[in-house]
Amino acid sequence: MAFFDFIKNIFKPAYNSNLLFFYIRDRKCGEKIKLLVRKSYDIQTIYEDTDKADYRLNKVVICNKCYNKINLQLDFDQAYNIINSHIDGGELISKEEFDDQ
Ligand SMILES: [Zn+2]
Repeated sequence: MAFFDFIKNIFKPAYNSNLLFFYIRDRKCGEKIKLLVRKSYDIQTIYEDTDKADYRLNKVVICNKCYNKINLQLDFDQAYNIINSHIDGGELISKEEFDDQ
């Protein structure tokens, strides 16, 4: 048990600093997809005052199983909480739903 805590602690800073995980389900075949997002690379900062979002992610995800294209747009506040989402061809699911076979 202590060993796993040790491992967890090693990986923790990476999660907090630059990586975000999202879980989506392909609407066509039901395949669940884990999406890894690097804040510095994938997410753009919104500068317009008229826009409620502080950060935005635009991504096209291809389903591993049926090659369906899922268009993803997520808006975030400053703390990277999702405040708006538009997903064509799929839907966001929770980690619990992803883990549940
Ligand atoms: Zn699929």
